[in-house]
Amino acid sequence: MNSCHSRFDALSELDPRDNIQVERMIIMTKYVCGICGYVYDPALGDPDNGVDPGTPFDKVPADWVCPICGADKDSFSPE
Ligand SMILES: [Zn+2]
Repeated sequence: MNSCHSRFDALSELDPRDNIQVERMIIMTKYVCGICGYVYDPALGDPDNGVDPGTPFDKVPADWVCPICGADKDSFSPE
């Protein structure tokens, strides 16, 4: 009679929270106006111009312009 014992100890640690944090960081990226230096902060949005707080720059309407100097979205770059 033969008996064979094999044993595998496999531990995998995956933490899905890491991904969520990365996404949150991308969403909360601030954008700076290249003309006047105004900073768009996604946490604050631009309620005076119809952009709710928590809106990532990505989701700001294409016709939104800098509230200070009137530059369009193309003039903004990530901080
Ligand atoms: Zn500006």
